[in-house]
Amino acid sequence: GQCVTHCPTGALHERDDTAAVRRALADPETTTIIQVAPAVRVAWAEGMGLSETEMSTEKMVGILKAMGFDYVFDTNFAADLTILEEGSELLERLQDKESHQWPMFTSCCPAWVKFLKQQYPLFNDALSTVKSPQQMFGAVTKSYFSDTSGIDPHKMMVISIMPCIAKKEENKLENMRSACGDLDVDVILTTRELIRLMKAQHVNINQIDSQPFDSPLGSSTGAGVIFGASGGVMDAALRSAYYLIEGKNADADAFNVVRGIKGWKEATFTIPSFGQIRVAVVSGLGNAKALMEAVSKGEAAYDFVEVMACPGGCAGGGGQPIHEAMECAEARGEQLWLIDQRAAIRYSHENEAVLTLYRDFLGKPLGAKAHALLHTDENWHHKAAYKSQEMVKAIAINIA
Ligand code: SF4
Repeated sequence: GQCVTHCPTGALHERDDTAAVRRALADPETTTIIQVAPAVRVAWAEGMGLSETEMSTEKMVGILKAMGFDYVFDTNFAADLTILEEGSELLERLQDKESHQWPMFTSCCPAWVKFLKQQYPLFNDALSTVKSPQQMFGAVTKSYFSDTSGIDPHKMMVISIMPCIAKKEENKLENMRSACGDLDVDVILTTRELIRLMKAQHVNINQIDSQPFDSPLGSSTGAGVIFGASGGVMDAALRSAYYLIEGKNADADAFNVVRGIKGWKEATFTIPSFGQIRVAVVSGLGNAKALMEAVSKGEAAYDFVEVMACPGGCAGGGGQPIHEAMECAEARGEQLWLIDQRAAIRYSHENEAVLTLYRDFLGKPLGAKAHALLHTDENWHHKAAYKSQEMVKAIAINIA
């Protein structure tokens, strides 16, 4: 197919980082740890001449292993982790409404975060403090995974494959460092660079078997994979927020009106023990601007808003394969929703590997360690924002 791309940060200036990855693969002293973003798995094969049935996630993992990466992990794991932190943060803010600015905005798209900080700085505090899945993955790899595997974090190279140009700079933003002092993520390649690298390594893809992701940072749920499509973060967050409040799951498709390619979606959901939650989902910076104007003027009011800079979300990201005169965001997004529908587990709070991470290492969502590693604000404990300890306890109990 032929797709056009809408990169809000300028795909024309893409820097090629494949040489650094090739050097690391050839260096026996470096442990190469790769994470693959949700939207990459439904686009990588477009550049490899494979049919839709051949372009499975497991085939991609098999190729990455054949290329010599030491560990092939999944950003979806970190997406589930993001949901537990962000869902808990939303509930905590809702418990203490007066201390916060509304609505709470998602923080996983760096182009959107930059846009808000530059164009609407008065709303800075309304941004969720959670790091993006890419950054959480690096923070957990260089602490928890380093501890459990015995690999020196300074000898790790954490490599991300992202559908995105803006992600190439996100790793250098403030507070994106791990406990070891190094950057959470070392090198970021776009889907297009991954395709170039696969071709340069001369891997015979027809002879490669499908393989699963490595563990423990390779397991994920249907709620993790939909981060790559507009509405996915909202849908996944609502599934877990509902559970955290009610102690039982809503139907995994209960929040499906937030899905789809439309640029500005709105919905109000009722969570019985809590009341109503008003949400909006926008994609494309034009829609983000329109929403911000409406919110600024008091013409629209929400509790939680998902914003993605690229129309349709990361599926149509600026780092994805580009084909002339055709939109691919919608078709790729539908593939992601399909993966979710077929997943054995569809709730982030049921990801066993994430729960083990909390039990053995992080403690509870929004706890001190989780906050230090997974959030961007350093002085959080000084803020009235985090007074609501009772709520945090309730969250931790529901998760355990
Ligand atoms: Fe990157 Fe996704 Fe944001 Fe586009 S929507 S800029 S691909 S994070």
